[in-house]
Amino acid sequence: MIKPKYLENLIDALTILPGVGRKSAQRMAYSLLQSNIEKSLFLSEQLKNIETKIIKCEKCGMYSDLEPSMSNQINCPNCNRENVNNDLVCVVESASDVYTIEESTNYNGYYFVLQGNLSPIDGRGPSEIGLDKLEKRLSEKNIKELILATNTTIEGEATAHYIKDIATKNNINVSRLAFGLPLNGEIGFLDNETISHAFNERKIL
Ligand code: ZN
Repeated sequence: MIKPKYLENLIDALTILPGVGRKSAQRMAYSLLQSNIEKSLFLSEQLKNIETKIIKCEKCGMYSDLEPSMSNQINCPNCNRENVNNDLVCVVESASDVYTIEESTNYNGYYFVLQGNLSPIDGRGPSEIGLDKLEKRLSEKNIKELILATNTTIEGEATAHYIKDIATKNNINVSRLAFGLPLNGEIGFLDNETISHAFNERKIL
C-alpha cells in the first residue's frame, strides 16, 4: 500500500514532541484529520506563534510575549519585576520548571534557565547550555545566594556540581533543593537510592 506523503509528513512532525512515539503520532494525526478543520488550523496558528510572538530573554532564558514596544531581547518582564529579591538567583534546567516553582513556593528572586543539562556524550557542554551566560551574570550582579534547582538525574547532578564551582569562584553561597522522602509517601515503596539520600540528608527537628 502506498502511504500518503503528506499524512506521513504530519506523523513525522508530531514525533518531534517529547514522549510521542510513532504510534501516538499516528493516533494524533488521524484524530486531527477526523476532527473539525478549525481545530487543526487553531493548532497550526499557535505553532506559528512560536516564531513570531514568543521571545526568549537573553538574560534569564525565560519566555515572554513579544511586545511591539520591546526594542531588544533583554527587557523581559521577569527580569524587570518589581520588589524582587536581588540577592537570589535560582537555576533550573527548563523554563517549565520556573512555572512549577512559582506555583508551589513563595520564592521571590531571579531565575536563570539553562538549555538542559551537561551531557558531553550528547554534545551539550557548558556553553551549549548557557553556563557562560550564567557565569557572566554572576560576575555582574550582586547575587548573594545561588539556588540549584537542577534535576536529580546524573546529568542534573553533574550540572549542579559545575555551577557550584562557578558560584564559589565568584564568592556566592550555593544551596541545593533538598531531596528525599516525597510527601504522603510510604518508606516501603521507595527505591534504595532515594532512601539513602533521605537518610544522609536528615535534619534535626
Ligand atoms: Zn529575563
